[in-house]
Amino acid sequence: MKKLSLPTWIAIGMAVGIAVGVIFGESAAAIRPIGDLFLRLIRMVVVPLIFSSLLVGTAMLGDPKKLGRIGGKTMAYYLCTTAIAITIGLVIANVVEPGKGIDEATQQRLLADAGAQSGGAIDRLSEQAPSVTDTLLQVVPTNPAAAMADGVFLQIIFFALLFGVALTLIPKKEHSEQVLVFFDGVNEAMIQIMHIVMKLAPIGVMALIASAIGQFGVDILRVLLAYALCVAAGLFLHVMLVYATAVRLFAGMSLRRFFRGIRPAQLIGFSTSSSSATLPVTMHHTTHDLGVSEQISAFVLPLGATINLDGTALYQGVATVFIAQVYGLELGLGGQLTIVLMATLASIGAAGVPGAGIITLALVLEQLGLPLEGIALILGVDRILDMLRTATNITGDASAAVIVASSEGQLWKAEPKAAERGQ
Ligand code: ASP
Repeated sequence: MKKLSLPTWIAIGMAVGIAVGVIFGESAAAIRPIGDLFLRLIRMVVVPLIFSSLLVGTAMLGDPKKLGRIGGKTMAYYLCTTAIAITIGLVIANVVEPGKGIDEATQQRLLADAGAQSGGAIDRLSEQAPSVTDTLLQVVPTNPAAAMADGVFLQIIFFALLFGVALTLIPKKEHSEQVLVFFDGVNEAMIQIMHIVMKLAPIGVMALIASAIGQFGVDILRVLLAYALCVAAGLFLHVMLVYATAVRLFAGMSLRRFFRGIRPAQLIGFSTSSSSATLPVTMHHTTHDLGVSEQISAFVLPLGATINLDGTALYQGVATVFIAQVYGLELGLGGQLTIVLMATLASIGAAGVPGAGIITLALVLEQLGLPLEGIALILGVDRILDMLRTATNITGDASAAVIVASSEGQLWKAEPKAAERGQ
């Protein structure tokens, strides 16, 4: 019998998880610890991996000019795709008008339920949503060790980038070399840990999905079906139109290869709802299966997992319009443009962790003067949408890595040999 590949096993794990969740309902939560174990194992690697790979990657790029060029391309791609994502979300929400079909009685019930269910959650949400200036200022850590201990990704990235650049500026090469060799070793060891952890993926995914389905059920979906479908359709369109076209056009990669290569990371992203936690998996498959050099993926992917959340941005576009429609408020063109701007910032400010998008959604709503209670309205279906947007976020990061690598001549057609891949 043909040996099944890891992605196939993960997909099987997922299907079994759905079945277990539907059959056992809330009791499926009993196997949640297995999923948590898997999640913790990946999380364990994230901070040392981001730090070491970004530091080595940056230092290896050598001259700051090259770094600037790659950084510029990456940021340009990230910003453009995010803006497109929000636009897709806005167009769908405005055309379908998911919030308008709700009759008044249901609308009242939804709003009353939302208020009752949320308790103090909404107030807490608005407290958590950072202001724009704070978001920008907080990129710079006052204590890098604390940033690592707390897992504040943007700060870790900032410090690692600066550290890497500083190493290239040290005149005595033997000094910088030693640091690099050390962190290169750390990096490789983390990758080895990931190889081991991924063997657990099918079972971990099964447990995560089973408990999610068991806990939240599919019932709530029915009420907010139109809204949830708008988000799901938008995400699907974004992946199939924007990423697929970009990968084909700018990198000449076959879509079959791209989607095959990135599938395990998508599945892990879907089941963990966290692009940061999935990062090691994304990095692994982007280098090994998509043929992106380690240098490029070490630079582009950690950055993307933290600031490039297209799925989140698209969802915020749909959610904002939906909430406005439910409350019977008109947004107008100015309002829609504000959404593009604010959702871009809000998705940059959102960390790649479960539920981050709904927290920074408060930022968008506040700017538009929309009631924050609207968040409670969509809370019920957020878990499932979070899964979908996380998978989208990850796909976006991988597409960026492929395109930037191709433009730098660092994309290998077949799986690269270890020696070639080495920096
Ligand atoms: N969970 C998402 C991610 O990690 C962020 C969000 O939209 O909540 O990519």
